[in-house]
Amino acid sequence: MSKSSMNTILLIEDDPGDALLIKEMLEYQECKAHLVTVERLSEGIKYLQQNVCDIVLLDMNLPDSSGLPTMTRLLDAAPSIPIIVLTGLSDESFGTEAVKSGAQDYLVKGDIDGRILKRAMFYAVERKKLEIALKQTRDLFERQARIDYLTGIYNRLMFTELLEAELQRARRYGSDLSLIMFDLDHFKKVNDDYGHNMGDHVLKEVALLVSESIRAHDILTRWGGEEFMVLIPKCDHSNAVILAEKLRCLLEFHDFGSGLQVTASFGVTQFRADDHADSFTVRSDQALYKAKQNGRNRIEAL
Ligand SMILES: [Mg+2]
Repeated sequence: MSKSSMNTILLIEDDPGDALLIKEMLEYQECKAHLVTVERLSEGIKYLQQNVCDIVLLDMNLPDSSGLPTMTRLLDAAPSIPIIVLTGLSDESFGTEAVKSGAQDYLVKGDIDGRILKRAMFYAVERKKLEIALKQTRDLFERQARIDYLTGIYNRLMFTELLEAELQRARRYGSDLSLIMFDLDHFKKVNDDYGHNMGDHVLKEVALLVSESIRAHDILTRWGGEEFMVLIPKCDHSNAVILAEKLRCLLEFHDFGSGLQVTASFGVTQFRADDHADSFTVRSDQALYKAKQNGRNRIEAL
């Protein structure tokens, strides 16, 4: 961080003497940043909602908030702002608690000088940047752990989580919920005859075609290999069969390139009151198995 990037410091401090001391320290350090002082937490939060600010110096005991909640409330309202907590000598233990709860640092009033304050602010800003970058990386990993790397649709882990939520909803509200499981026919032959690149292309194309043909809240998943699931909230058995038939035709008549044609077999089932995740998915699998047994490129429902 270059020194010039610290533009605005927000000081939330109700003691005019303490506020003046901080102001003078910063001036003495030739800190060019603009210091804004407010006396209440609510004013501080309002300021952060309306203005760009680099760092907050926060007194923990204010007219409208005291103790650790002062820090956590501010952090909730402005999660990306670095916070340095200012404590009195008698309540220094609040400082460590505040750091554990997300403040970047704490300083004990009466024990600070300008150089310490300036350095603390510098490190607080840098640490907060790292913290945000780490969080973004973690969020990305978490997302990737739930997305199928090849097709970009949900994977089995994500499906399991979403299925549980949909099952609860269906039980609670008695709403319809259906499931289509489908498997590409003789897919091994695609890989053998056309190569694995073509096989991958087909899987991606299938994911794209199907995702464009379902509603936004339907849940398409790559279950494994060449097997896919479509979880369809608020859809009964007969409408699920209609959708499966639409998907079956879509694949059958699609040109995957090089004259390659691919069909799929479909198993359809509807949620029953005594279903749990396993019984529901196993039944769709059984229906799919039946479709395979009965000649492929067809739909069976259970
Ligand atoms: Mg105070």
